[in-house]
Amino acid sequence: MEEPLDLRRYRAFLIDLDGVLVWDGEPIPGAAEALTALKRLAPVVVLSNNSTRSRRAFALELRAKGFPVSPREVVNSAYVVAQHLRREHGPVAVFAIGETGLFDELERAGHQLVEPERAQFVVVGLDRDFHYGKLTRALRALLGGARLIAANADPTFPTPEGPIPGAGALVGAIRGLGYEPEAVVGKPNPIAFRVALSAVDVEIALSPKDALMIGDRLDTDVEGAARLGMEAALVLTGVTTPDDLERWPGPRPAHVARSLKELVERGLRRSQPSG
Ligand SMILES: [Mg+2]
Repeated sequence: MEEPLDLRRYRAFLIDLDGVLVWDGEPIPGAAEALTALKRLAPVVVLSNNSTRSRRAFALELRAKGFPVSPREVVNSAYVVAQHLRREHGPVAVFAIGETGLFDELERAGHQLVEPERAQFVVVGLDRDFHYGKLTRALRALLGGARLIAANADPTFPTPEGPIPGAGALVGAIRGLGYEPEAVVGKPNPIAFRVALSAVDVEIALSPKDALMIGDRLDTDVEGAARLGMEAALVLTGVTTPDDLERWPGPRPAHVARSLKELVERGLRRSQPSG
C-alpha cells in the first residue's frame, strides 16, 4: 500500500526530462501545467543524464515546448561532470569525447579543452559521431597518464526508431582498452543529485529528505534517489512498464503515477483533516 502523497511537504523537486516532461521530442500532455504547479510549491530542477546539450540549450528547447524553465533550473550530466571536476580538482585540462553541450559546460566551469597529449582528464559523454580515431586519441591521453571520468553510462536511450547506443557504449569501448572510469557522475551516482540540490538554492541548505525525485527509470532515477535517502516517484510515461516495476529487485519508488500530470493532481488534493 502506498503512502498518501502530499506534495506540499517537499522543499524541492528534481524532475527527469526524457519520459517525464518530453517523449520522442514532444511534450507529454499535461506535463507543462504540472511543472508550473510544482514550481508554485517549491524550487524545481530538471535533472537529466543527457550530456549532448548545455543547460542553456536545454532550457531554450524546453521553453519552446511550453515548459517554464531557466538554464539555472537545468542540471544535466555535462554540467555535473564539469562541477565535479571543478570541486575535486579545480580547473583542469580535459580531452573530451562528447557533443557541444559537454564542451560548453566544461569551458563554462573554467576547464580547458586540450589535445590528448596535454590532458589531465579524459571525460566521456554521448558522442553520436564517435569513431576509431577518437578512441585512439583517448588512448593517447590515457597512456599519457590522464584520468578517466564519464558523464553517464546509460547503455541505450529510446528513440521512435527503437533504442540507440548511449554514453555507456562509448565507455565500454574505452573499457575495452583496459581503462575503467574512476567515476560515472550521472544518475544514479549521488554526485548528480547533490549537484542538482545545490543548484536549487545554496541558502536553503537542503537535505535529500526534503526533496522528491520524479523520474521514469528505476535504475537511475529511483535507484539514485534511494542511495541518498531521497524519496522517488515513478511515472509511467517513459521507459518503465508496470511489469518492469513488478520485476525490479532494487529500491521501490515511494509513489507511482501514470504521468506527471496525474502525480501532481493526486499530490495537490486536499488531504483528510487530521483533527
Ligand atoms: Mg528519463
